[in-house]
Amino acid sequence: MNEELEFFRDNVRRFIQEAIAPDYEQWEKAEIFPRQLWNLLGEHGLLAVDLPEEYGGAGADFNFSMLIQEEFARANFAAIGGPMAVHSDIVAHYLLNIGTEEQKQRYLPKMVSGECVGAVAMTEPGTGSDLQSVSTKAVADGDDFIINGSKTFITNGQHSDLIIVVARTNQDVPGSKGITLFLVDADTPGFSRGRNLEKIGLHAADTSELFFEDVRVPASSILGTLDGGFALLMGELVRERLALAVSAVGAAEGVLADTIEYVKQRKAFGSAVAEFQNTRFKLAELATDVRIHRSFIDECKQLFVDGKLDPATVSMSKVAATEMQGRVVDGCLQLHGGYGYMREYGVSRAYVDARVQRIYGGTSEIMKELISRSVLA
Ligand SMILES: Cc1cc2nc3c(=O)[nH]c(=O)nc-3n(C[C@H](O)[C@H](O)[C@H](O)COP(=O)(O)OP(=O)(O)OC[C@H]3O[C@@H](n4cnc5c(N)ncnc54)[C@H](O)[C@@H]3O)c2cc1C
Repeated sequence: MNEELEFFRDNVRRFIQEAIAPDYEQWEKAEIFPRQLWNLLGEHGLLAVDLPEEYGGAGADFNFSMLIQEEFARANFAAIGGPMAVHSDIVAHYLLNIGTEEQKQRYLPKMVSGECVGAVAMTEPGTGSDLQSVSTKAVADGDDFIINGSKTFITNGQHSDLIIVVARTNQDVPGSKGITLFLVDADTPGFSRGRNLEKIGLHAADTSELFFEDVRVPASSILGTLDGGFALLMGELVRERLALAVSAVGAAEGVLADTIEYVKQRKAFGSAVAEFQNTRFKLAELATDVRIHRSFIDECKQLFVDGKLDPATVSMSKVAATEMQGRVVDGCLQLHGGYGYMREYGVSRAYVDARVQRIYGGTSEIMKELISRSVLA
């Protein structure tokens, strides 16, 4: 399989260089990448690659999907890689793991081709980390449910065709017991998108507010079980967090490689910046930091394939790898001096794009909370 993976890696890298690199800066300025990119990604077999063939996927191993994450991050195109992870590694796998046969047949082949873009809407203006407190409501009305509420910070908000909406269906039980997941098509009356949010990084990424005003959906749009959504969310967050950890290591490896080249050619006081002891020691520290996390996420990927990756361990990988990414981008930017602060240099983008990795998919603090529960159990 290693040979196949390396062959696939070459293809992904070629695609990135030919189809992403030439236009990325323009998409950053436009503050969103074009919708057609999804179709192109689908045509090149880069969406939801590890879905079974019966649903249009390539039936590839999980590592192929993680490789895509790693390569987009390494190439410093996180504003594409992140939305792809939401679509391929989160939404498609919610459907695969929890969906009915009819739901899978309806959405998955179109998600593989890029005709249907997926989003998952958990966060609300008043509730992020404390997911149990979502206030978007879905009230039964005959055989239907009527959804009211609003969501924010939703990746793929502008381009999505299918949104997994987390809504409260039972007010009389504790939060974790009265939440349901709904599949909402973006053309359902009452659904609307707010503005594409302005961010400090990931400019080309699509991140929006979403509004649900008397959105009527049939009971058949429930994903999983009525009132059972919270436990399902917790189960699926393992893969989401692992994908984030994998992208953190890929991004750190990429920015470190670029920085090594930069310090070799940049001169100060008559010698290359690479020759100062501070530079050499700093690079030694950063390379060690990256390598430790490479080993850990490779172990976590294998645990995931073996069905043994538990919530505490994946939380360790998410907090550790994303905090490491923060240290590495900061160190690398410093070694670039003033040029590191200029948008023209990739390290400046790596720096701002890295910041959110410690926030979305569960903040570092929430990861520590989850780890500590298992440590003290
Ligand atoms: C670019 C971007 C993309 C995103 N994409 C999506 C998406 O596709 N779908 C989606 O649903 N959401 C998405 N999010 C939302 C993201 O998951 C939340 O922002 C995140 O979970 C944190 O929630 P919050 O912003 O409400 O912060 P809050 O929960 O308000 O947290 C504020 C601070 O309090 C800390 N805190 C909270 N609770 C505790 C605690 N118990 N102990 C210690 N500290 C605590 C937090 O760690 C944080 O430092 C995205 C966010 C961003 C920025």
